[in-house]
Amino acid sequence: MIKHGALYSGKAKTIFRTDNPEKLIMEFRDSLTAFDGKKKGEAQGKGYYNARISAKLFELLEENGIDTHFDSMLSDTDMLVDAVEIIKIEVIVRNIAAGSLARKYPFSAGQKLDPPIIIFDYKSDEYGDPMINEDIALALGLATGEELSRIRELALRINSILVSFLNDRDLLLPDFKLEFGRCDGRIILADEISCDTCRFWDRTTGESLDKDVFRFDKGDPVAAYREVAKRIAPAPG
Ligand code: UDP
Repeated sequence: MIKHGALYSGKAKTIFRTDNPEKLIMEFRDSLTAFDGKKKGEAQGKGYYNARISAKLFELLEENGIDTHFDSMLSDTDMLVDAVEIIKIEVIVRNIAAGSLARKYPFSAGQKLDPPIIIFDYKSDEYGDPMINEDIALALGLATGEELSRIRELALRINSILVSFLNDRDLLLPDFKLEFGRCDGRIILADEISCDTCRFWDRTTGESLDKDVFRFDKGDPVAAYREVAKRIAPAPG
């Protein structure tokens, strides 16, 4: 697979064209950003661990009947994916109150949310990813009503699969963000599922093993990401 020029470079990943118009390469970089890009950092090896975690979780979801854009890993940090038309909605699933939910609403941090809460944010750096509801999504033409229902159903199924898999590896999943895309008339899971987009807490100690380590200077982010990779995607050999 030939890696052509970069199509788009985001905060932590770069997307490249390939010789096949239906496939893209997603490169996981070592850069870290938080608070809408106001805090920036670099952590050697972070891209590799996030790629490994994402690949493993996409494989797990595929095995459980969820369509994703994942094709294969081409190197430690290059993931071959299906080219999709990204739906500009960040779908956040919450099982335990943390982060902005505990700041903005009268939930106590650590409070269990059963059933889980699903939140839609408008994916727009210009507008600062504001929370939206179904009416706003429809009025902005971000997705159809049918697509929004499908996205909600998929997000809940994905959540159940991930929670049970992670629980067996002594990890809690307080919340995480998903992005979906359109491909051949279907809605499929895209983007990444990694320590940058999920909160992972050690089930026994409650320790953060995710981007909160970087956000709040809680220690070495690479050590945290490595620990998650070790638990969920042990390296061969
Ligand atoms: N999240 C993300 N990208 C975003 C916003 C949120 O990956 O642009 C993830 C975040 O890592 C967390 C979950 O979604 O796992 C919920 O994030 P929250 O809204 O609490 O954001 P916070 O302000 O706490 O980072």
